[in-house]
Amino acid sequence: GLGGETNEDEVLEARAPVVTIMGHVDHGKTSLLDALRETDVVSGEAGGITQHIGAYQVTMSGGGRITFIDTPGHEAFTAMRARGAKVTDIVVLVVAADDGIMPQTVEAIRHAKAAGVPIIVAINKIDKPDANPDRVRQELLQHELVTEDLGGDVLAIEVSAKKRMNLDKLEEAILLQAEILDLKANPERTAQGVVIEAKMEKGRGSVATVLVQTGTLRVGEVFVAGSEWGRVRALVDDRGNSIQEAGPSSPVEVLGLQGTPAAGDDFVIVDDESRAREVANYRQRVEREARARLAQRGTLEQMFSAIKAGDAKELPIVIKGDVQGSVEAIASTVEKIGNDSVKVRVLHSAVGGINESDVTLAKASGGLIIGFNVRANPQARDMARRDGVDIRYYSIIYDVTDDLKKMLSGMLAPTLRERFLGYASIREVFSITKVGKVAGCMITEGIVKRGSKVRLLRDDVVIHTGDLAQLKRFKEDVKEVRDGYECGMSFTNYEDIRAGDVIECFEIEEVAATL
Ligand code: GDP
Repeated sequence: GLGGETNEDEVLEARAPVVTIMGHVDHGKTSLLDALRETDVVSGEAGGITQHIGAYQVTMSGGGRITFIDTPGHEAFTAMRARGAKVTDIVVLVVAADDGIMPQTVEAIRHAKAAGVPIIVAINKIDKPDANPDRVRQELLQHELVTEDLGGDVLAIEVSAKKRMNLDKLEEAILLQAEILDLKANPERTAQGVVIEAKMEKGRGSVATVLVQTGTLRVGEVFVAGSEWGRVRALVDDRGNSIQEAGPSSPVEVLGLQGTPAAGDDFVIVDDESRAREVANYRQRVEREARARLAQRGTLEQMFSAIKAGDAKELPIVIKGDVQGSVEAIASTVEKIGNDSVKVRVLHSAVGGINESDVTLAKASGGLIIGFNVRANPQARDMARRDGVDIRYYSIIYDVTDDLKKMLSGMLAPTLRERFLGYASIREVFSITKVGKVAGCMITEGIVKRGSKVRLLRDDVVIHTGDLAQLKRFKEDVKEVRDGYECGMSFTNYEDIRAGDVIECFEIEEVAATL
C-alpha cells in the first residue's frame, strides 16, 4: 500500500517517545512545556530550544530523547485522533497541587483512556505553600489512576514548572514508561508521519510541521500529505537549523507543499510526482464525496459508514442518564452485548445532561451518545449536528440494548448497500422559470429511476451527491428511462450543472442482519 509495507528483515531501532501534555486550565501545561524545552542539552547555553514549530525534541544529559507536542490541552489530541492519527505514545497529565483534580483533568483522563495511551502524572506547583500532592494522589484513585506509592503502577512526579524542580525526574519517568512500551521504528525505510500543524508563511509558502513516525525523510523526496502533495524543498528542525534528513520521532518543518494539509493528516513518501498527484486527486475526490454524503444522508447511515470505514470492531458509546442507578444498569447491560468479533465499549458514563465534552469524546472515538431521560444542551446539539455525532434518546433500558444489538449486527454485515443503476451524460442545460435548471440527458448505460440517488461527475471527479428531483420524457414525469434514450433531469437543491457532466445514478438498499 501507500508506504505501509513491512519487511521480514526490518531494522527496528528504539525511537523517542512522543508526549502530549494535558490538564485543567491554569494548572501549568504551557509553563511545563516551556520549562522542559530548556532542558535540552544539544542547543547549548542559549537556554534551550527557542523555535516554536508545533513540536520539539529534547535531548537529556544521559542521551535520552523525548518529543513533546507543543500544543497543550486535549483539543489538539482529540482533533488528531478524530482524523485517525495516533500521534501520542504517552500523556503527561498536569495537576496543580494546590487545586487538585478539576473538570478538564477528568476529561483528559477520559480522552487518554479512550485512546489507550498511558498516563504519567505531573503534580505541578509543588513550590506553593498550600500544595497538597497527597490529596492529588487520593483524588486520582477515584479515577482509577493508582500511583506507585498507593500500590499501583501510575508514575506521579512532583514538579514545579516555575522553579524548574524535578524536571529531570519527570523526563526519567517518561523514558521509563517508553521502555515499557518498547517503542521502535525502522529508520531505513521510506518515511511516514503525521502533520502536526500547517500554515502559509510569507516568503516561505506552505509550511507543515511533520512528526516523522517511521523511516527517514529526506530533502528532494516526493510526498503526499492528506490530500495535498509536494516535493521536499527544505527541512528545518526545531532549533531552526536547515537539515538534510529527519528520522523517527523527530518533528521537522517541511517546505515545498502545494497546499495546506490539516493537523492529523498523514504524510507519506511516494515514488514520483505523477503518483503523488494521482493519490492527492483521489483523496480530494473521496473527501468531497464524504462531505456530500454527510450533508445529504441521515445520521444513521453516517454512523454506519463511519464504522465501516474504520473497520471498527467495537461500538464506542457515551452514556448519560438521570440517575446513577439507570446509568449503571445500562452500562453493565450493554457491555454484555455482542460476541468475540464485535462489542459495545462504554467510553464514559455519568449522571447529567449531554454536554460538549461528551460530543467531543464520542466524535474522537467514532462513537455515539445515549441519553437516558436526559437531553443534550443546545451547544452540544449544534456540535453533534455539525460533527455528525449520533445522539439517541431513550426512556426504556430494553430499547437501548435492542437498538445496540441492531447496530452491532450492522457492523457484522453491511446494513446499507449502494446499488449502481446507470450513467447519463448531460447534453444541454435549460433554465426553466419556476423549475430552475434542467439537464437534457442521454442515458449511456443502465437505467435511471425516479427518486434515485445521483452523483455528478465533472472530469471524473465527484462534485455533488444528492437526489434526483425530477425525471421527465417529453415534459411527462416517468418512472424510469433506459440506456439509449433521452430524458430531462433536475436535482434537489443543486443547479451547478454543465453540458458534458456525467450523472451516476444509484440506490441505497437496506440489508437486514441479526446478532
Ligand atoms: P495552562 O493554562 O495549563 O497552560 O497554565 P499556565 O502554564 O499558563 O500557568 C498558569 C499559571 O500558573 C501561570 O500564572 C503560571 O505562572 C503559574 N504556574 C505554572 N506552573 C507553576 C508552578 O510550578 N508554580 C507556581 N507557583 N506557579 C506556576
